Amino acid sequence: MRQPLVAGNWKMHGSRESVVALLGALSTSVKCDAVDVAVCPAFVHLPQALELSASSPVSVGAQDCSAFDEGAYTGEVAAAMLADLGCEWVILGHSERRAYHHESDALVSAKLSAAIAAGLRPIVCVGETRTQRESGEAEAIVAAQLAGALAEHGNLAGLVVAYEPVWAIGTGLTATPEQAQDMHAYIRAELASIPGLDEQATRLLYGGSVKPGNADELFAQVDIDGALVGGAALVAEDFQAIVNAAA
Ligand code: PEP
Repeated sequence: MRQPLVAGNWKMHGSRESVVALLGALSTSVKCDAVDVAVCPAFVHLPQALELSASSPVSVGAQDCSAFDEGAYTGEVAAAMLADLGCEWVILGHSERRAYHHESDALVSAKLSAAIAAGLRPIVCVGETRTQRESGEAEAIVAAQLAGALAEHGNLAGLVVAYEPVWAIGTGLTATPEQAQDMHAYIRAELASIPGLDEQATRLLYGGSVKPGNADELFAQVDIDGALVGGAALVAEDFQAIVNAAA
């Protein structure tokens, strides 16, 4: 019922040369009849990535967008600009944006409005820090992030939520399949009270040190519908192996 999605977050990595190498490899190898596949390069690499993936099943997204439609916002990139370029997806509320750019749930919500208005498909990230998990607050933190970002929108059909425990991102630590499943089931239950979406149809991705070696057992969980992949998305064979595991 929910087609898996595997999205690669390339973060601030790469060069024009590496984009050619990575997308060249993925465009020929990725077979995704049963899984949606996306890559999210840095803004400056989006036109090149869109060109290289044009005749492949790989779709392209951005890692962020502005909350504003247009205007005097130096350094910002509008959702409509991304859509105009041909981007399909946009990642919003990544924990690195929340930590280094002080993005609040209200700002994530405003960006979500802009993304929806532009016709982009949003991937909204939520997740707790290690301290929050250890003090038993993980569910409350995630519930607040979901409510803060999602409550004010009329239509959230097609929304994707990525659960990314901050302590598992880029650390080599992964939530156990049971920890991830428990939180995904909790998120799905929370989504039932958010207007404008069908929680059973909403895809929930896990993110946090997903690798070929742990993808199978994560994807075997009933409420895990794919992955948002950081480090392993920069290695074509690893990303391909994760896509295969999702399929
Ligand atoms: C991410 O940044 O979204 C991520 C999940 O990174 P990594 O896979 O490297 O932990």
